[in-house]
Amino acid sequence: MMQNIIVQLCALVLITMICVFSFGKQRIAMARTRVFRRLLFVTSACIITDILSVVAIVYAPDIIAFAACKAYLLMILVTSMFMMMYVCYDISELRSKKRFRIGTYIFTGASVAVMLILPLEYHNQDGQIYSFGAAVDFTFIIAPLFIIATFLVTHIFRNRMNPHRRTAVRVWLILQTVGAVIQAFDRHLLLISYGMALGITIIFAKLEIPDENIDRTTGVYRIQLLRDYLNQLFESKTGISCVVITRSRSYEMDSLTEETLMLEVAKFLARVSDHKVFRGIGGDFITVYPNADAAEKAITAVKKRFRHPWVSNIRISPAFLMIPDTMKYSSADEVFAVYQFELGRMDTSAGAVSVLDETALVSFREYREVRAEIVSALSEDRIETFLQPIYSTAEKKFVSAEALVRIKDKQGNYIMPGRFIPAAEQSGLIEQIGDRVFEQVCGIIKKKDIHSLGIEYIEVNLSVVQCENRRLAERYSKKIKENGISPGAINLEITESGAIKHRTVLLENMEKLRDFGCSFSLDDFGTGESNLDYIVNMPVDIVKFDRSMTVAFFTNDRARVMLEAVITMIKRMGLKIVAEGVEEKEQLDVLSELGVDYIQGFYFSKPLPVDWFIDFIRERNYQAQMQTV
Ligand code: C2E
Ligand code: CA
Ligand code: CA
Repeated sequence: MMQNIIVQLCALVLITMICVFSFGKQRIAMARTRVFRRLLFVTSACIITDILSVVAIVYAPDIIAFAACKAYLLMILVTSMFMMMYVCYDISELRSKKRFRIGTYIFTGASVAVMLILPLEYHNQDGQIYSFGAAVDFTFIIAPLFIIATFLVTHIFRNRMNPHRRTAVRVWLILQTVGAVIQAFDRHLLLISYGMALGITIIFAKLEIPDENIDRTTGVYRIQLLRDYLNQLFESKTGISCVVITRSRSYEMDSLTEETLMLEVAKFLARVSDHKVFRGIGGDFITVYPNADAAEKAITAVKKRFRHPWVSNIRISPAFLMIPDTMKYSSADEVFAVYQFELGRMDTSAGAVSVLDETALVSFREYREVRAEIVSALSEDRIETFLQPIYSTAEKKFVSAEALVRIKDKQGNYIMPGRFIPAAEQSGLIEQIGDRVFEQVCGIIKKKDIHSLGIEYIEVNLSVVQCENRRLAERYSKKIKENGISPGAINLEITESGAIKHRTVLLENMEKLRDFGCSFSLDDFGTGESNLDYIVNMPVDIVKFDRSMTVAFFTNDRARVMLEAVITMIKRMGLKIVAEGVEEKEQLDVLSELGVDYIQGFYFSKPLPVDWFIDFIRERNYQAQMQTV
């Protein structure tokens, strides 16, 4: 008899091992894992009834042997159904279709009933043991139907399954089929169970290894599992609360200390979050809780612990990003997108908690909308450069202009930079916008012969991201050469910003472009972030006073005193001054008197489309010329 069940015993050993590896406490209740465990369970039961039926045929009374054989056939039918259901679970349309599920259950139930009614016999002679008869034949007709159906599912929904899953499932189906076909033609070779066990091994190794979801360094869950988990929660419309624990990435430590530290922090976080810890982006951890109250309590506990040092006396000061309720979002993807979006702008000072409530969500959605508008404007060539004339107080005519970008929307209305520049900077699209504006300015200088109209140069805004690009100088000087224009016709405006991380790169770019022949302006002087250090250390030619300085000069006595001193100082350094935002005649007169070299503002003109600008300059500079003659 041993000869007859040796193969099944091997199958049993195999499947037992897989059970051992698969059944641990499931902290993150993934429905997908439950589905696999169910399949594992019925497959094991099928293999066991296979063995029991052989044993019963040999040793037990007829009635028991008969029952055992029927039980085995029943398990074959049930296992085949579960195989199909396991594969269907991957496909959301099938997963959510109740009718499909109920139909399958009814079909299986009916097949089982028919199988139970049909006659069955068994053979036990010369050490050969097997069952046969109508019940067996029937089972061997129905079970393959499930396999065929499963194969069809992998074909019809092939675009919904990732290729690895598809291949693994198909190999599994083939093994199962080969086992069954051999057994159907040669009843002595009882290979079905072995085929099943091998198939499950493949599914396990390729698709269901529990450790796959675990981060190697820290032992917490990978971020992909959080995505799957959130997807599942969205499907069942359940909200949770997430807390991202992020730390400033400013200090360096060797990788060994870093790893030990991460491990310790991970262990601690596992305790406060009932082991629901995920590895986030960079060194972040993400913990999840059933609701916002629990999340808030956890934040308090985490803050308390972080006041004390970790390994080797290292103290870290984390900042928090809290999502009070994921159901306020439209999908798991949106949760992740907002997380990524906020990482770039959140308050990272020690202990700060940024709450991603509805307002944050609204601003994110707006950002996403604007970003989409920028992308389409870039691809449909709807980026337009306007020019605002700049007046020379000494020459009494217009000598330059500032290029200001606009997006023309699909209805033909202009979107102002205030609405899209922040999103462009955050998304990095500002580089492409900047390039477009730069190209358009080169084109204007080349085609419109602005020099003959009295315009010496055009000022082009550079944002921080552009300044930090190591290839900026090279690319821009190339563009100038390609257009065959004089580098002196380009003045680049830079802004002082705390956001500049690589000041050396900015300086290198500036020096290269200056050597090439371009000049620079320091923009927005007098706003929050500016200080004198920039004027001293940056090789700029012009300082542009922000509109707020111009306004303050006329409303605040102290500002007036300061401005007078600053003007004197800047002029003594040999730099020129542009006053921006001049709207009234009085402002123009006083600022000219004080020695401001250039005036830009609505008093003269708003930023204009290129052709209007050309007409404006032609007319006004002509008048100016007439007056001097
Ligand atoms: P900015 O560089 O300070 O540009 C001056 C802004 O002040 C312009 O706004 C201009 O229309 C406005 N302005 C000029 N004169 C007056 C005035 O008399 N009164 C008032 N109330 N406003 C005046 P705009 O065109 O909306 O641009 C806003 C900001 O967008 C710019 O400020 C600049 O930071 C940014 N920006 C515009 N074009 C570009 C670009 O091509 N690249 C980059 N990186 N930023 C740009
Ligand atoms: Ca500017
Ligand atoms: Ca400005």
